[in-house]
Amino acid sequence: MKKLLILLALFSSLRCFAQDSVYTRKMVNKLSSKAFWGRGYTKDGMKKAADFLAAEYNKFGLVPFSNNYKQDFNLPANTFPGKMHVEINGKKLVPGKDFVVNNESPSIKFMGNLTQKDSLNFLASPLLKVSLKDKLTWSVATEVGEITQIQINRKNFKELPKEITVDIENQFIPNFKASNVCGLVKGTKYPDSILMITAHYDHLGGMGTGTYFPGANDNAAGVATLLSLAKYYAANPQPYSIGFICFAAEEAGLLGSKYYTENPLLPLSKIKFLINLDLVGTGEAGMTVVNASVYPKAFSLLNQINDEHKYISKINSRGKAANSDHYFFSEKGIPAFFIYTQGGPSAYHDVFDKPETLPLNEYNDLFKLIVDFNKKLMK
Ligand SMILES: [Zn+2]
Repeated sequence: MKKLLILLALFSSLRCFAQDSVYTRKMVNKLSSKAFWGRGYTKDGMKKAADFLAAEYNKFGLVPFSNNYKQDFNLPANTFPGKMHVEINGKKLVPGKDFVVNNESPSIKFMGNLTQKDSLNFLASPLLKVSLKDKLTWSVATEVGEITQIQINRKNFKELPKEITVDIENQFIPNFKASNVCGLVKGTKYPDSILMITAHYDHLGGMGTGTYFPGANDNAAGVATLLSLAKYYAANPQPYSIGFICFAAEEAGLLGSKYYTENPLLPLSKIKFLINLDLVGTGEAGMTVVNASVYPKAFSLLNQINDEHKYISKINSRGKAANSDHYFFSEKGIPAFFIYTQGGPSAYHDVFDKPETLPLNEYNDLFKLIVDFNKKLMK
């Protein structure tokens, strides 16, 4: 009987952790799915993701920062909702896999020859440039340039490009509406002391009518971890408050977090510490903390806890960097860490950043490390 009880206890504790990772995995899959179209600027992807996140907050019972979970703002964005046709030497190229169009490109319709400029660059006309690349990397632009540039994956296309046919449509949106999604678990004793957890939910969106960038590691993984923390803290409120912000338009230049710090919904002075999660879906080779050397006391606390419990294999220290949504907060004097993991698949800003190949191997350790760290830091 005793043995059975021990087994039962073991099983239920295992199931408890498993439940968390099951939810997290489910959220990564969901956010990276076609329905959200890369959480970007076409097919309503970003808005659909924001509405989904607000519904999750609501399910957990999070309190909105203002009268609504969503904080709306506008940004200019160059988008590619329509035609995305590229043919080289008579072969049709697959968007995302064989080529990407540079994010600032205007529309173009052209058929003609290419002249070689150097070993990697070719010109079709003064308005159309083709470059051979070892890795395709896409991003988001907030303006339209003069020239259409096409990057071709030279691993897939081994010939010299000689002839080109293109039909590409851009649509510039001067006032694209985006929203940060904010919710709070009120502290039981010190509600005015806030520990803030943040992650950007936007990604690059789609390129044409048939290609989207799933952004599983960047940053469905960070948002899924944030959601599982929100779920946990909503069920286990702490003496201090815990705020959650899923930022929009990070990929367009940290625009959601910049907007929030300029238009805070809760006084910034109430934030005692901020943890930003971006690219946390791997971890075989450990993790890195940006701002570690700026806040050495907090960093040594994090290491102490990690050494004690052997959560993450290695925690690397980095200084200040304007590379994710923590940046404008720490510029305003709010202590903040930006955490990202290392090792495993290296897909980045391409169509291969997919949930199927994302290991999420350090999810449980990262979750426990953050919970333990918060507890010690805020006491
Ligand atoms: Zn990111």
